[in-house]
Amino acid sequence: MFAAATRRTLFRNIPTTHTYRYGSTLAFIEYNAKQNVLTPASRSCLQAAKKLNQPITALLLGSNSDKVAIKDTPNIVSKVLYNTDLKFDHQSPEYISPLICDILNKQNFTHFVIAANSVGKNILPRVAALLDLQPISDIVDIESDKQFVRPIYAGNILATVQSEQPKKLISIRTSAFPIDEEETQAKVDNAVSIPTQEYQFEIPSDIKSTQYVGSSTVQNEDGRPDLNSAKVIVSGGRGLKTKENFEKLIVPLADAFKKVPKYNGVAAAIGATRAVVDAGFVDNSLQIGQTGKVVAPDLYIACGISGAIQHLAGMKNSKVIVAINKEEDQPIEEIADFTLIGDVNDVLPELTEKLG
Ligand SMILES: Cc1cc2nc3c(=O)[nH]c(=O)nc-3n(C[C@H](O)[C@H](O)[C@H](O)COP(=O)(O)OP(=O)(O)OC[C@H]3O[C@@H](n4cnc5c(N)ncnc54)[C@H](O)[C@@H]3O)c2cc1C
Repeated sequence: MFAAATRRTLFRNIPTTHTYRYGSTLAFIEYNAKQNVLTPASRSCLQAAKKLNQPITALLLGSNSDKVAIKDTPNIVSKVLYNTDLKFDHQSPEYISPLICDILNKQNFTHFVIAANSVGKNILPRVAALLDLQPISDIVDIESDKQFVRPIYAGNILATVQSEQPKKLISIRTSAFPIDEEETQAKVDNAVSIPTQEYQFEIPSDIKSTQYVGSSTVQNEDGRPDLNSAKVIVSGGRGLKTKENFEKLIVPLADAFKKVPKYNGVAAAIGATRAVVDAGFVDNSLQIGQTGKVVAPDLYIACGISGAIQHLAGMKNSKVIVAINKEEDQPIEEIADFTLIGDVNDVLPELTEKLG
């Protein structure tokens, strides 16, 4: 395995521009700086980039990017560009966006792909504005190198949009591009890692107007999986009535999935409707829906949830949906694979016990 310094030496004389005849994709990649591995969202991003059928260059930024470039470069990437400048830690879009524009222009990339998460939502509009191009956000499918599918009207309509722009700037809904472990597995010898300095891209100078002050991470208790990557989500709505009842009924059910052999000791993630978040039962990071997270787990259990369109917009692509509601004919039934008519106070403890 080459050390980063060795690679720098190896690629000192590479040309400053490189044009692919049939298009090429730049994918913005985030990584977990503690473990030096790509985030699940970035693996989905690469999965989407692969659908464009052209060479993929991954862009990794921040102080550990050289280590990740060497340790966790997935199979389907043909080249990695990285820059370890501390300015790029903390994902500040003011620094990252101009660099991306410079790379897109100098390398003649035809496509830019980024996850439609908080980082992507910060960066993509800035890149588009700087390049004077129209971004195409939240896509859920790629039909060709210029046709993309994206939900509109809270996910009730899927629009197929065609772009004739010289560069297509797209953000992807990660839940729509499931990770193929084999394809996004690290295979370090396949890709060439190059520090961006080799290309003399312009690094923005210090920006005084915006400065990073600090951040704190909310830990998922008991190793509960992230909503975006969870295989099972137990979600609660106003039918739970109180915060205490939510904790008493939803949390044990989510934990009981640890005992299901298929899930290898991993608990279910917990989700909620906006009604429950507004009532202060749970943190708003758990909200699922149009103004919350968009998820697509293997199993979604909706407890005491009516199924308002704004909630459905965030979970209707789940593979199997189970609704537990005391009333019949609630809107959630229309998309549920199984509906259990019953009171959450009776049904949830019984279900928890059966799983245990
Ligand atoms: C612009 C906008 C954006 C929004 N964004 C979101 C969003 O991102 N996510 C979101 O979730 N909402 C969102 N909403 C709110 C949305 O319209 C609904 O108000 C909300 O989803 C309703 O939540 P709920 O299903 O928990 O409550 P309710 O609609 O009140 O449903 C409660 C359900 O619980 C059942 N129930 C009651 N008691 C029991 C019991 N003991 N046992 C079993 N079942 C019981 C009832 O039959 C009912 O079906 C948004 C609204 C607007 C206007």
